[in-house]
Amino acid sequence: MSQASKLVSLVIPVYNEESAIPHFLAAVRPVLEAEPDYRFEFIFVNDGSRDGSLELLLAAREEDPRIRIVDFSRNFGKELALAAGLQAASGAAAIPMDADLQDPPELISSFLRKWEEGYDVVVGVRKRRDADTAFKRRSAAWFYAFFNYLCGRRLVPNAGDYRLMNRASLDALNSLPERVRFTKGLYAWVGFRQAIVLYDRPARVAGNTSWNVWKLWNFALDGITSFSTFPLRIWSYIGFGVALLGFVYAAWLTARTLLFGVDVPGYPSQMVALLVIGGLILMSLGIIGEYLGRIFEESKGRPQYIVRSRIGFDAGAGEPPARCPHCGAPLSR
Ligand code: UDP
Ligand code: MG
Repeated sequence: MSQASKLVSLVIPVYNEESAIPHFLAAVRPVLEAEPDYRFEFIFVNDGSRDGSLELLLAAREEDPRIRIVDFSRNFGKELALAAGLQAASGAAAIPMDADLQDPPELISSFLRKWEEGYDVVVGVRKRRDADTAFKRRSAAWFYAFFNYLCGRRLVPNAGDYRLMNRASLDALNSLPERVRFTKGLYAWVGFRQAIVLYDRPARVAGNTSWNVWKLWNFALDGITSFSTFPLRIWSYIGFGVALLGFVYAAWLTARTLLFGVDVPGYPSQMVALLVIGGLILMSLGIIGEYLGRIFEESKGRPQYIVRSRIGFDAGAGEPPARCPHCGAPLSR
């Protein structure tokens, strides 16, 4: 190992990717070989796959000891799988990648070059999103605009998780304890000196995306409610506006009654006021519930995820090293 050889961790969340993993390894390995100045480790996080992904990874590890596996006890979702992988990464830099080759491996070299120039974070930004449906492109554009407007924190539009983070920014990210992790927002929150590398995002090499419209919607909601209290605060203004209208209307009614006497009973106006205000109250309660749920989730203080086993880590982080029950010598794992 030369003095300059730095370890770089590739972090790959895996959920039912048995058809993609062989393609992934075949595509990434040559790129790594072209970087003799660096050493690499693969940290695969098996996020409760129901197919043969784990067996495949274990077999791949037999031939390639750079592969390490964090095996979750069930599916916890990509964001937490990523969190686990980044926490397990021991490199001087980490690069999260999808297993489906939508993050082109050739970019690793560009990331490393920018890192050598002194940037802390190098972000992969999609030039075009041809592989996505028009709906997904449009909704993504709206989301970035809305989020950046509300939260005042500039999410880099069309940047995903594919990026290089140096040790300092990785440590900063790992120190954020939240369970509901909107990782895009967390990246922006920690800051650091960023460079951008543009790329074309291809379609998935094999298998299917596990996202659907409902999941994306919830993802967007999580993002906004974990980075902005604007939806909570707006109700004070709406309440104030509605109350003002109510007073004006009351004044007008009083004046009219005094001047012209009582005419019809006024059922429609009462119903309208009742329904509008009732609707507003329910909506505001729903928003409060959204945040209350967030507080509830975080206040339980549960671990972010449960690991079934760690394969390829000597003395896994936080775990005592396995020891021989007879002589007490540490067992290699
Ligand atoms: N993934 C995961 N847990 C999940 C869903 C997805 O670890 O619950 C992984 C998946 O195996 C892949 C990456 O996250 O490596 C991105 O998933 P996908 O390709 O489905 O998302 P998309 O590229 O469509 O955003
Ligand atoms: Mg994908």
